[in-house]
Amino acid sequence: MPLSLPELQARIRQFRDERDWMQFHNPKNLAISISLEAAELLEHFQWRSFEESEAHCRNEDARQEIADEMADIAIYLTEMADNLGIDLLAAMASKLDKNAAKYPVEKARGSHKKYSDLE
Ligand SMILES: [Mg+2]
Repeated sequence: MPLSLPELQARIRQFRDERDWMQFHNPKNLAISISLEAAELLEHFQWRSFEESEAHCRNEDARQEIADEMADIAIYLTEMADNLGIDLLAAMASKLDKNAAKYPVEKARGSHKKYSDLE
Protein backbone atom coordinates (compact mmCIF):
# COMPACT_ATOMS: atom_id res chain seq x y z
CA MET A 1 0.00 0.00 0.00
CA PRO A 2 1.61 3.28 -1.08
CA LEU A 3 2.35 5.87 1.55
CA SER A 4 1.38 9.51 1.25
CA LEU A 5 4.12 12.14 1.36
CA PRO A 6 3.25 13.16 4.96
CA GLU A 7 3.41 9.49 6.00
CA LEU A 8 6.78 9.08 4.30
CA GLN A 9 8.06 12.24 5.99
CA ALA A 10 6.92 10.90 9.35
CA ARG A 11 8.79 7.63 8.71
CA ILE A 12 11.92 9.50 7.65
CA ARG A 13 11.72 11.71 10.76
CA GLN A 14 11.31 8.64 12.99
CA PHE A 15 14.22 6.81 11.32
CA ARG A 16 16.44 9.91 11.71
CA ASP A 17 15.41 10.79 15.25
CA GLU A 18 15.75 7.24 16.60
CA ARG A 19 19.40 7.50 15.57
CA ASP A 20 19.86 11.09 16.80
CA TRP A 21 20.96 12.14 13.30
CA MET A 22 19.15 15.47 13.08
CA GLN A 23 22.37 17.05 14.37
CA PHE A 24 23.96 16.06 11.01
CA HIS A 25 21.01 16.82 8.76
CA ASN A 26 21.47 20.55 8.15
CA PRO A 27 20.59 21.90 4.69
CA LYS A 28 24.22 21.85 3.48
CA ASN A 29 24.72 18.20 4.41
CA LEU A 30 21.39 17.17 2.91
CA ALA A 31 22.13 18.99 -0.36
CA ILE A 32 25.53 17.25 -0.50
CA SER A 33 23.87 13.90 0.24
CA ILE A 34 21.33 14.38 -2.56
CA SER A 35 24.17 15.04 -4.98
CA LEU A 36 26.20 12.05 -3.74
CA GLU A 37 23.24 9.70 -4.12
CA ALA A 38 22.64 11.10 -7.62
CA ALA A 39 26.27 10.28 -8.38
CA GLU A 40 25.66 6.71 -7.17
CA LEU A 41 22.79 6.53 -9.65
CA LEU A 42 25.11 7.80 -12.37
CA GLU A 43 27.60 5.04 -11.60
CA HIS A 44 25.14 2.61 -13.17
CA PHE A 45 25.64 4.31 -16.51
CA GLN A 46 29.29 5.31 -16.35
CA TRP A 47 31.16 3.76 -19.32
CA ARG A 48 28.05 2.06 -20.68
CA SER A 49 26.86 2.93 -24.17
CA PHE A 50 23.28 4.07 -24.69
CA GLU A 51 22.29 0.53 -25.67
CA GLU A 52 24.17 -1.02 -22.72
CA SER A 53 22.48 1.46 -20.36
CA GLU A 54 19.06 0.44 -21.63
CA ALA A 55 19.94 -3.24 -21.24
CA HIS A 56 21.32 -2.60 -17.75
CA CYS A 57 17.96 -1.11 -16.73
CA ARG A 58 16.21 -4.30 -17.82
CA ASN A 59 18.47 -6.48 -15.63
CA GLU A 60 16.56 -7.46 -12.51
CA ASP A 61 19.43 -7.01 -10.02
CA ALA A 62 20.49 -3.71 -11.57
CA ARG A 63 16.90 -2.46 -11.53
CA GLN A 64 16.72 -3.07 -7.79
CA GLU A 65 20.00 -1.22 -7.23
CA ILE A 66 18.81 1.67 -9.41
CA ALA A 67 15.52 1.77 -7.48
CA ASP A 68 17.52 1.91 -4.23
CA GLU A 69 19.59 4.87 -5.45
CA MET A 70 16.46 6.68 -6.66
CA ALA A 71 14.93 6.08 -3.24
CA ASP A 72 18.05 7.43 -1.49
CA ILE A 73 17.79 10.64 -3.52
CA ALA A 74 14.05 10.93 -2.86
CA ILE A 75 14.44 10.28 0.88
CA TYR A 76 17.04 13.02 1.33
CA LEU A 77 15.02 15.38 -0.87
CA THR A 78 11.84 14.64 1.04
CA GLU A 79 13.56 15.17 4.38
CA MET A 80 15.13 18.43 3.22
CA ALA A 81 11.72 19.73 2.14
CA ASP A 82 10.26 18.65 5.48
CA ASN A 83 13.03 20.34 7.47
CA LEU A 84 12.75 23.58 5.49
CA GLY A 85 8.97 23.64 5.62
CA ILE A 86 8.74 23.42 1.83
CA ASP A 87 5.67 21.66 0.43
CA LEU A 88 7.49 19.45 -2.07
CA LEU A 89 4.41 18.44 -4.06
CA ALA A 90 3.30 22.08 -4.34
CA ALA A 91 6.85 23.11 -5.32
CA MET A 92 6.93 20.42 -8.02
CA ALA A 93 3.54 21.48 -9.38
CA SER A 94 4.62 25.13 -9.37
CA LYS A 95 7.89 24.29 -11.15
CA LEU A 96 6.02 22.28 -13.79
CA ASP A 97 3.90 25.39 -14.42
CA LYS A 98 7.07 27.48 -14.76
CA ASN A 99 8.61 24.89 -17.10
CA ALA A 100 5.47 24.85 -19.22
CA ALA A 101 5.70 28.64 -19.58
CA LYS A 102 9.42 28.43 -20.43
CA TYR A 103 8.91 25.62 -22.91
CA PRO A 104 5.70 26.29 -24.84
CA VAL A 105 4.64 23.19 -26.78
CA GLU A 106 4.61 25.01 -30.12
CA LYS A 107 8.26 26.01 -29.68
CA ALA A 108 9.72 23.14 -27.69
CA ARG A 109 8.03 20.06 -29.12
CA GLY A 110 10.67 17.64 -30.39
CA SER A 111 13.53 20.02 -29.50
CA HIS A 112 16.20 19.62 -26.85
CA LYS A 113 17.18 23.29 -26.99
CA LYS A 114 17.38 25.28 -23.78
CA TYR A 115 14.48 27.70 -23.33
CA SER A 116 16.73 30.69 -23.96
CA ASP A 117 17.62 29.26 -27.39
CA LEU A 118 14.05 28.50 -28.48
CA GLU A 119 12.78 30.75 -31.27
MG1 LIG B 1 22.91 5.12 -2.26
